[in-house]
Amino acid sequence: MLNQNRSNQLFERAQNFIPGGVNSPVRAFRAVGGKPLFMQKAKGAYLYDEDGNRYIDMINSWGPMILGHAHEGVQQAIARALPDSLSFGAPTAREVEMAELIISMVPSIEKVRMVNSGTEATMSAIRLARGFTGRDKIIKLEGCYHGHGDSFLIAAGSGALTMGTPDSPGVTRGTALDTLIAPYNNLQAIEQLVSENKGAIAALILEPVAGNMGCIAPQPGYLQGLRSLCDREGIVLIFDEVMTGFRLAKGGAQERFGVQADLTTLGKIIGGGMPVGAYGGRRDIMDFVSPSGPVYQAGTLSGNPIAMAAGMAMLSYLNEQTDFYQQLDAIANRIVSDLKEVLQQLGLRYTINQVGSMYSLFFTEQNVIDYDTAKTSDTERFGRYFRHMLEQGVYLAPSQYETLFVSAALGEQELQQLKTASYESLKALN
Ligand code: PLP
Repeated sequence: MLNQNRSNQLFERAQNFIPGGVNSPVRAFRAVGGKPLFMQKAKGAYLYDEDGNRYIDMINSWGPMILGHAHEGVQQAIARALPDSLSFGAPTAREVEMAELIISMVPSIEKVRMVNSGTEATMSAIRLARGFTGRDKIIKLEGCYHGHGDSFLIAAGSGALTMGTPDSPGVTRGTALDTLIAPYNNLQAIEQLVSENKGAIAALILEPVAGNMGCIAPQPGYLQGLRSLCDREGIVLIFDEVMTGFRLAKGGAQERFGVQADLTTLGKIIGGGMPVGAYGGRRDIMDFVSPSGPVYQAGTLSGNPIAMAAGMAMLSYLNEQTDFYQQLDAIANRIVSDLKEVLQQLGLRYTINQVGSMYSLFFTEQNVIDYDTAKTSDTERFGRYFRHMLEQGVYLAPSQYETLFVSAALGEQELQQLKTASYESLKALN
């Protein structure tokens, strides 16, 4: 049995002073029937908890640590930036360089604004789309998660789905009415929503590859279909690439699937582990943002120099490698083929979805293509699997409805441990 004494003590204390003992709900391990581990440090592919246990990390801070933990280039960039200042609240050269770099990597982005989280990016992007079009309603897809802005906590995925609260109390009825919901991967349903709300829809926002109900790929032609529909109806197409940006390719899911968004929201990897987000896109739309246009959006710490240094180091590294994404995908392909082999050996027919370095094992035999099919998963069984994996030194996302994120720090030794742990854990469930 895992020694979790110090983590348990910290959790006891935390619950007195922090709601649920954590600063973000899914960290509480509620969905997997355990108590959270409190982390002390991390290096490369590994996390170390307060009790000295070591785990192969398959979450990587929910995506940002694509190079593994404590990457030297990123750490050094932060160390170099530290003596200058922690915050100026004034423009800096680094922000200009960051904007130029993002624009060079993501072809649909002509102008970009830095913010401090993915949530800020998506909230700002829909306000901008509304200001630009003069329309109020947005379309959001079931099971997609776009952070905790009011407009998005309707049929939301991620922690909201895991906690059984996809529609949060506290969101006003008026706000909820302005968010129209359609199932993922169903073009017809969106066509119908649009025709029922002709001329009223400002934006369609989606994760081009869903990661917040587990990993779900867009079906062939789906993103192209959405692009044409938005062009025809004057709807701003927003790709929320907070997860997929700089992960599925230099230019994110847009590059991988060959479809460009009008606006793109970014987060996670863009900060190299620091709290950063961004939204950007078509020049004519971005010029509506204050002070060049009337749509207000601001931030005391936006473009923070330390965060920019970390993000620049991360993005520059990804940009300069010639075959980084092929190598990363090859690691993920190997993990998935090992997992398939294990399932076969054990006579299990669970579904695995993978897009590049994102993947999920769903505890269902159904083809998982949307929210409804994702929810056919046996979450109790997933919870037991999760706990067995943890015992064997593998830290998975503590929910069936989260994707796993492969990092470049995973080597042969870790891949073998992962395969053995998967075999033993799945066997123990039978
Ligand atoms: N959009 C997507 C696709 C996400 O996965 C997340 C977070 O997981 C967000 C937005 C919100 O980002 P943040 O947690 O940085 O506010």
